[in-house]
Amino acid sequence: MQVTEKIKDYLTGVKKLGIGGHIRPDGDCVGAGLGLYAYVRKNFPEIEVRLYLQPIAEKFKFLKYSEEIVSAVDHNEVYDLFILLDSSDKDRLGEFEPYFDQAKRTICIDHHISNNKYASENIVYPTASSTSEVVYDMLEESLVDYDTACALYLGIVHDSGAFKYSNTSAHTMNVAGRLMEMGIPFTQIIDNTFYSKTYVQNQVLGRALLESILFFNGKCIFSVIKRDIMEFYNITSKDLDGVVEQLRITKGVECAIFLYEVAELEYKVSLRSNEIVDVSRIATYFGGGGHIRAAGFNMKGNMYDVINNISQQIEKQLG
Ligand code: AMP
Ligand code: MN
Ligand code: MN
Repeated sequence: MQVTEKIKDYLTGVKKLGIGGHIRPDGDCVGAGLGLYAYVRKNFPEIEVRLYLQPIAEKFKFLKYSEEIVSAVDHNEVYDLFILLDSSDKDRLGEFEPYFDQAKRTICIDHHISNNKYASENIVYPTASSTSEVVYDMLEESLVDYDTACALYLGIVHDSGAFKYSNTSAHTMNVAGRLMEMGIPFTQIIDNTFYSKTYVQNQVLGRALLESILFFNGKCIFSVIKRDIMEFYNITSKDLDGVVEQLRITKGVECAIFLYEVAELEYKVSLRSNEIVDVSRIATYFGGGGHIRAAGFNMKGNMYDVINNISQQIEKQLG
């Protein structure tokens, strides 16, 4: 599906622009946000623009303007336009939701199949690899510079698993190719922000794999990291990136479940599937969202309740 909307058409008459993304921003969210922010800063200097995101990972801070990201609700601004990126639901904006609610006009740019079209204009392309890919398609190609290219490339790399997940299309590769032509350090972007792990991250990954459990005849796998373990290793949710992906590629597995404890008796759930299970449907059922092969949600209860509830839904689809 070709993206037909152009960002410039939404910016006419806009003096104050707010941009936001989802809580615990991932690579796509940060890439799309900073890519769009840099583009507006450079090509529309008359627009006052602010980018709201919860604190981003250190590894993303090489991106231009990352130090200008606003991570606190600082004043009562009413924006002419507020653009929410990579968020299937308005509440994914977290503490910045009032800026969206008060804005004169709102747009959502996204690629989640579970998107519930909450903005005045919803630019949602579920077949796109990433929100960064959709953002690229909305820009004037000749006005995309090095800084926007680095950010959007990073976003595409993260959501496509470095161009290998099933959401990667020929168009994704064409966009990436055009971004590479800007002279961006693509090798470093992939290694330093996607593959590289700290020693502690590797230890926790190892632990999650060691303690993982296969069930449904080896078709499903799950693992959990409890609060005490996170405290012991002094890690945050950002350090758990990639765990569910490693579980997913276990030979014979169709569906992978990874949980980490976000609070007493509350878990963040990540689901991945390979060919059969529509995990977006399961995540939406439990109040979250995502894509057919990658989705997530939060669930209250003890670990066994959580796993039981999810397994029932998987079983319905596996038959
Ligand atoms: P994760 O498992 O957190 O890597 O997320 C996989 C996909 O599901 C991403 O596209 C997320 O945006 C989406 N997702 C994760 N958690 C939620 C949630 N609580 N609500 C809606 N979408 C989510
Ligand atoms: Mn995201
Ligand atoms: Mn995304």
